[in-house]
Amino acid sequence: MFGERLDRVQGAMAAAGVDVVLLSVGPDLPWLVGYEAMPLERLTMLVVERGGAATLVVPRLEAPRVVERGDLFTIRPWDETDDPIAIVGELMGRATSAAIGDRTWARFLVDLHRQRPDVVFHRASEVVGPLRAVKDDAEVAALRAAAEAADRVAAQLQGGEIPLVGRTEAAVSADIGRRLLAEGHHRVNFAIVASGPNAASPHHEPADRVIGEGEVVLCDFGGTMLTPDGPGYCSDITRCVHTGPITPEVAEAYEVLHRAQAAGVQAATVGTSCEGVDAAARDVIAAAGFGPAFMHRTGHGIGVEEHEDPYIVSGNGDVLVAGHAFSIEPGIYLEGRFGLRLEDIVVASADGPDPLNRVDHGLVEVSA
Ligand code: ZN
Ligand code: ZN
Ligand code: ZN
Repeated sequence: MFGERLDRVQGAMAAAGVDVVLLSVGPDLPWLVGYEAMPLERLTMLVVERGGAATLVVPRLEAPRVVERGDLFTIRPWDETDDPIAIVGELMGRATSAAIGDRTWARFLVDLHRQRPDVVFHRASEVVGPLRAVKDDAEVAALRAAAEAADRVAAQLQGGEIPLVGRTEAAVSADIGRRLLAEGHHRVNFAIVASGPNAASPHHEPADRVIGEGEVVLCDFGGTMLTPDGPGYCSDITRCVHTGPITPEVAEAYEVLHRAQAAGVQAATVGTSCEGVDAAARDVIAAAGFGPAFMHRTGHGIGVEEHEDPYIVSGNGDVLVAGHAFSIEPGIYLEGRFGLRLEDIVVASADGPDPLNRVDHGLVEVSA
């Protein structure tokens, strides 16, 4: 798996005219070789030479954590008195063009730039991003397992197992987080709980508002689930429940949202542009008169990162290919009143759109 990824990176480097790829903290490194760099001031960096070797420059005290993969890379440990920037600079050899991981700390890029002023630096996402965006079968299986775990938590929410009325958003958020872990995630990435008028803010930070009767409770949550031999893959789902009774105004808006989300999923076929998928969902909402109430993109890619390529947004003409995995998450936000969002993770496949989240798509009225 990793050997094949390294080959694909080599191919992309050749196509982009990049001489060396430099990967440090962030998801590119675990995706490529299965090792995650410690986010520390001591530099860890994989140096991938085009057509040549890969070397992991790593602090001596971290080296015991590295599972040696002689077929993939060799280890170059550095001691406390060494200069790791000089070591990387040397390993870059005669390179004149380098692609460096987007999440690499700025201090390392500044120092490398000073060490090798002859080198032009690019973002590694220009090389690795399109490769990471297309999931292989094992990655789709990992995303499916994470989605099924998130679905189980959503089913608990819809089934009234998670108490809502009389509790703060923050308490419900913590509850959802615990359940994500209980269902097999190893990390909670976020658990938005937005009740009543708070749901009109798409990235609401759950706090001390107490959930009442007769309210929409928007829950958007996800985490990372580890795979046996590689990096973790993310889940991300949004379901709204209602503490009842549901008013006609909310029911009508939800019906529009539900249709829009289904239209987005249905449009997510191989060969359709990302902006075409966005338009499919957006047109339904606009036609119902809620256009300005849907102010964000329809979706984002997902994999080892919660948000990655491809972005389902107007202006992105990139065409879906089999293996692209992304969210379809339109929303309707009415300031001061309520907000609604419905989100599934979908994989584009040769057989059509494959939604990984299957839990009830309705606005479920709960007595909890
Ligand atoms: Zn978001
Ligand atoms: Zn989400
Ligand atoms: Zn999302």
